[in-house]
Amino acid sequence: MKIAVLGTGYVGLSTGVCLSEVGHHVICIDIDDQKINRLRQGISPIYEPGLEDLLTKNTAAGNLQFTTSHQEGIENAEVIIIAVGTPQRNDGAADLSYLLQAAKDVSAHLKPDSIVVIKSTVPVGTNDYVKSIITNHTKKPFKMVSNPEFLRQGSAIKDTMKADRIIIGSEDKEAALKIQEMYRPLNVPILMTNVRSAEMIKYASNAFLATKISFINEIANLCEAVGANIIDVANGMGKDKRIGEAFLQAGIGYGGSCFPKDVKALLHTAGLHGVDFSLLRETIAINDEQQKLLFTKACSRLKQLKDKKIAMLGLSFKPETDDMREAPSIKIAHLLHEAEAKVVAYDPVAKDNAKKILGDTIEYASSVDQAIENADAVFIVTEWNEFKQLDLTEVTKHMKQPIIFDGRNCFEENKIRACSKIEYYPVGKPAIV
Ligand code: NAD
Repeated sequence: MKIAVLGTGYVGLSTGVCLSEVGHHVICIDIDDQKINRLRQGISPIYEPGLEDLLTKNTAAGNLQFTTSHQEGIENAEVIIIAVGTPQRNDGAADLSYLLQAAKDVSAHLKPDSIVVIKSTVPVGTNDYVKSIITNHTKKPFKMVSNPEFLRQGSAIKDTMKADRIIIGSEDKEAALKIQEMYRPLNVPILMTNVRSAEMIKYASNAFLATKISFINEIANLCEAVGANIIDVANGMGKDKRIGEAFLQAGIGYGGSCFPKDVKALLHTAGLHGVDFSLLRETIAINDEQQKLLFTKACSRLKQLKDKKIAMLGLSFKPETDDMREAPSIKIAHLLHEAEAKVVAYDPVAKDNAKKILGDTIEYASSVDQAIENADAVFIVTEWNEFKQLDLTEVTKHMKQPIIFDGRNCFEENKIRACSKIEYYPVGKPAIV
């Protein structure tokens, strides 16, 4: 099948690369010529395990091309997948400006009877709206399919190739079957729905997962107050198949390019329809507080943060990605900066993206050793494997004070106890002092 993908971000690029890997002819289009230039040289603009190998392989095989020309990309495509960003507006609603521009780009060049697929996360009703925009701009016949994406950054390729499910929402049976055919080589369960249900499945899924995180974080806070251990509690809960083990890791809150904006967008949609979705408001409020947890604990332990050196380990919103969008590290860095602490951060891959957001609010180390040297405390913000494998005796030896605030519960208790000089403050379990 000849497929065009608009947007070479996390979703568009992963989708394009994976569809080329299973034998389709894919052309990826982006308005960012720097990204396209790099992609043409086989360099991925994002850090995503396994992506660059497939990129190089399929570009060389002639299955995968890149262009900044919408005409070149769209005019021969049977299927046009829109995967542009839908960021958050100030009022919490989804900003559809990129999507609407993409719809106009598509309408200018689409070939008759092609299928326009919206993969971007969009509020219920948006597919119908985009259909009306394209219809207003072209007389050529086309069909629409809603096909929301569920991949996770950090495992985007694996998640695309082995997705739990693919949702195909369409009012047109023929179009739905063609998209089913496009995905057939992936051998993944496919669920066909109407368009509005497909749009809602995406938001309901993300809002549910975000709520699960806020719930377990509140339980963790309560565990600290009553002397219970969140690891055992989550383990005991997760064994119940009705609950499940995933998303029960207590920590310093969710971040990233999806959960924060999608929860707010769903709340906004609910408001527009007169539904008071108070559970989502609480999910957001709990998360906002939880992101301050390490700072609050450090204030109470160190009393005065002015001129104290804090080593922040991890900046990206989660491991295996360089994405800094809505990362808890941003709020933590600002709080520490306001308290006049000296912050030195290390992240294996997110340094460049962090600099764009945090500038010189903090200093950037190029290794753990450099970050922790002479530190008054370490904050573990992202659970990179590199940090989980740290020798805590060695780490504390180089610090001014051996104090670790672990926002991701990275270490087993015996590993911490093996280190004689440590003050260790995890989330949802007793401190070791
Ligand atoms: P992104 O911001 O990383 O990438 C979007 C890309 O679209 C950019 O490269 C931009 O230059 C390009 N673009 C904008 N307008 C264009 C146009 N008219 N033509 C061609 N290219 C254009 O976004 P992302 O993280 O890949 O997310 C895309 C969508 O998928 C969003 O709606 C997001 O909510 C959703 N989603 C994201 C994830 C994720 O983990 N990132 C997961 C599931 C769903």
